[in-house]
Amino acid sequence: MLIETVKPIIQDATKQMRICEYVRKLYREIDERISSGDNVCENCKQCCNFEISGLDLFVSNIEFVYFLANVGQIKRSSGNICPYLDGQKGCMVREFRPIGCRTYFCKPAEGYSAGEIYEWGLNKIKSFVRENELPYGYYRWMEVLRSY
Ligand code: SF4
Ligand code: SF4
Repeated sequence: MLIETVKPIIQDATKQMRICEYVRKLYREIDERISSGDNVCENCKQCCNFEISGLDLFVSNIEFVYFLANVGQIKRSSGNICPYLDGQKGCMVREFRPIGCRTYFCKPAEGYSAGEIYEWGLNKIKSFVRENELPYGYYRWMEVLRSY
């Protein structure tokens, strides 16, 4: 359960700070890797509507800790559309969005592999968790937003 892998971290301010620093840097590194490609996003916002896109987005527990620390109150959605999607502006939490959101492009550049960057990022997270003897969890994004 999400709470079992998040609660022991958010109750410890030092752990939480270390995690947030790590995830922040990792996201920056991932964004840099992505921007070297020529991926196209026309900001149609459909991929965040899972009813239409059919995407199944996941998030690790330490990414969620980072998200929570920055976003505060979690928005809930009863349907299958990310509650952080604004019909006009698009993603309202762009800076803190999970790896799955950052790496996905419906029109990827030639040679771009979202899966490769995703796996690279996730392996970095797993190593960090292991080295710091933290609990690890991996969850469906929409279930996290519904249940936290
Ligand atoms: S990645 Fe594709 S589906 Fe998602 S917002 Fe951009 S253009 Fe739309
Ligand atoms: S967090 Fe942002 S990018 Fe990710 S699914 Fe939600 S609205 Fe889309």
